[in-house]
Amino acid sequence: MTAVPLAEARRVFLGAPRWLALTGAGMSVESGIPPFRGPGGLWERMNPEEYAHVRTLERDPARAWELFRILEAAIAGARPHAGHVALAEAERRGRLNGVTTQNIDGLHQAAGSRHVIELHGTLRRWVCHRCGLAMAPEDVDRRGPVPLCGCGGVIRPAITLFGELLPPGALEHSLELLEAAGRLLVVGTSAEVHPAATVPHLALERGMPIIAVGPDPTPLLESRGVAWLRGTAREVLPRLLEESEGADA
Ligand code: NAD
Ligand code: ZN
Repeated sequence: MTAVPLAEARRVFLGAPRWLALTGAGMSVESGIPPFRGPGGLWERMNPEEYAHVRTLERDPARAWELFRILEAAIAGARPHAGHVALAEAERRGRLNGVTTQNIDGLHQAAGSRHVIELHGTLRRWVCHRCGLAMAPEDVDRRGPVPLCGCGGVIRPAITLFGELLPPGALEHSLELLEAAGRLLVVGTSAEVHPAATVPHLALERGMPIIAVGPDPTPLLESRGVAWLRGTAREVLPRLLEESEGADA
């Protein structure tokens, strides 16, 4: 299937009252945060099953901390772009009932989105892996190779590692919002990472209208029943979500 023109994607969007947005790593690429997969992605240099697995955190925390430092450096100074802002404005106007994201960078909240479900947790909060004490990033004592809590446990970001469950209720809540909206706007995800991919797959199965934004063909974007708006999040979301006439050009 080929991509649809902007005017057609806008007709689909404006033709329904309310949508749920699902975002992935591609959403933040234009904020300067690289995706994990694909050319230049982090996983070309690091094996995810090794570095990002909870087992590594428990057996060789210094190795896990190499990854955490790279992730922190990647989000340091990143700012939301016009696509994040367009999603936040669409939510304020009542056109989105929420954003469910695989991203751990906090940029949707920074752009003003209120109802954000972080399927893979967040790098903006840290916790002790042993006692669960939560702390802000600036409160983590980083002087040693592996920051430790007062209880002796390893401090780690509140993100979902391989081998861990998603934050309690996050997927269920996303599916409730999907049912309530009945339509899905997908941005910047290949929908290959499970269980997050349950969200678009359920929408597909149920025959819900889906608009998907991304620059490259992927099986999801090219699926039957998906209106694929080819482009990048920063370029096309403001134009897709703009309510005024004349934005169709
Ligand atoms: P992914 O496999 O879902 O791939 C990213 C998708 O974004 C690809 O389909 C690509 O074509 C598309 N894309 C690239 N540039 C884009 C742009 N400018 N606009 C719109 N779409 C674009 O994602 P991944 O990198 O494999 O990440 C998997 C998991 O890793 C995520 O679920 C997340 O937990 C984590 N991650 C988070 C961040 C972040 O927080 N910003 C970044 C990388 C990875
Ligand atoms: Zn502790």
